[in-house]
Amino acid sequence: MSIKIASKSHVEDLLAKYDTFLFDCDGVLWLGDHLLPNIAETLDLLRSNGKKVIFVTNNSSKSRADYVKKFKKFGIVATTEEIFGSSYATAVYVDSILQLPKNKKVWVLGGSGIVDELKLFGYESLGGVDPRYDGLLDMNDPESMIYKIDPDVGAVVVGLDTKLNYYKLAVTMQYLKDPKVPFIATNIDSTYPSKGMKLPGAGSCVESVVCASGRQPITSCGKPSKGMMDAIDKAHKLDKSRTLMVGDRLNTDMKFGREGGLATLLVLTGIETVETLGELSKDEQPTYFADKLGDLYELLQ
Ligand code: PLP
Ligand code: CA
Repeated sequence: MSIKIASKSHVEDLLAKYDTFLFDCDGVLWLGDHLLPNIAETLDLLRSNGKKVIFVTNNSSKSRADYVKKFKKFGIVATTEEIFGSSYATAVYVDSILQLPKNKKVWVLGGSGIVDELKLFGYESLGGVDPRYDGLLDMNDPESMIYKIDPDVGAVVVGLDTKLNYYKLAVTMQYLKDPKVPFIATNIDSTYPSKGMKLPGAGSCVESVVCASGRQPITSCGKPSKGMMDAIDKAHKLDKSRTLMVGDRLNTDMKFGREGGLATLLVLTGIETVETLGELSKDEQPTYFADKLGDLYELLQ
């Protein structure tokens, strides 16, 4: 059974047991543009107790630099080294695992976060936020980009594209006709929460490509992938027995922590509820749960 963090001694226990805290962002620290209660205070509390904090987000639409700005807007200091996003994890994958030669280009069905992170690793992207793909597919137009497939494209990356359209999907499919061109998903979240409703997530874009191309992604780079955990471990040399993963979603955050050998804390400010927690088998139960992350600060007052 998961332990509910509901008293001062529970928080003291967490502080004694863990040195490193991995945080999912949306649903844990904030909801969209709205910072949740006592988040800055909780992060200050952890940092002043000598704890390392790391932020792990599946939102591929932003780069790490975009996240530094987002934290700053909330009055929280976070460095690029503390932030791991699925756009960054994708660039790490293309560079270190795929070892795509730098003279190869990446076709991106997704936003600027992916394009920017790939650029930092020396990769030129096609697609992405290029407005030439915003229009309608006109097969009678000889200038249509569908006739300009670049033979130097060596990989296809698909993440959340809020300007997804038939034209881009058709071009993506052309690149994936070549079985030597790998298909990589940034993350597979089917939805994400926005202003009290759910919107289609990167997984919905990925599935459109799966359906059209008949291909499956060779990997998904965000949580719960092992690649994301390995990238964090490589950069921060985690002592896994003393690291806690905090998240709001069972099939990404909690699975990521559990399969990565970490203790887990589920907060109920995002996707999951006490009801979904109650439906879990013993093996799937998070180590701890709390109504909200800010309780760590409030319970110590
Ligand atoms: N995907 C997108 C496009 C998002 O905007 C978000 C949250 O803002 C997420 C995924 C989930 O992000 P996180 O892993 O921080 O909850
Ligand atoms: Ca989340």
